Amino acid sequence: MSFVASIFKEKQVSVLHCRYCKQVLSTRGMKAELLAGADQEMFSTDIPPTDSVDFVGTCYYFEACRCKLKNIACLRCGNEVGYHVLAPCRPCLLSSNNGHLWMFHSQYVYSISRMDESGMCILLWKDLPDTDENQEGLLSLYEEEHEVYLR
Ligand SMILES: [Zn+2]
Ligand SMILES: [Zn+2]
Repeated sequence: MSFVASIFKEKQVSVLHCRYCKQVLSTRGMKAELLAGADQEMFSTDIPPTDSVDFVGTCYYFEACRCKLKNIACLRCGNEVGYHVLAPCRPCLLSSNNGHLWMFHSQYVYSISRMDESGMCILLWKDLPDTDENQEGLLSLYEEEHEVYLR
């Protein structure tokens, strides 16, 4: 299990954009392994991208197994970009997975490698904090601006 986890940790972090309107959908994207029978690349993320996508349609079950899914669409342009696994089925839960329940289709989403703070190296998942530091970053940016304003 730890071996599998280390494989995921060596993966690059991708910033995912909507192909239709170029909106950033997630700053914590991971290129998913191509599943048997899947004919297109997928991206996944661990933290709910609630600021960029919303649910559309009704729940349905994945064809290959019994995972319960619901499609997600870009909040800005309304196009469907992927799906959320509402309830993973038992075989999927037991199999090695990266715990990512938000999936994006590569035909609707493109990715750009996320760089580390230096801007020189591509960020890897092992260097990414568990929390959504993107929001913290925005917050500290705001505080900095505020300090400048006070001076
Ligand atoms: Zn499943
Ligand atoms: Zn969009």
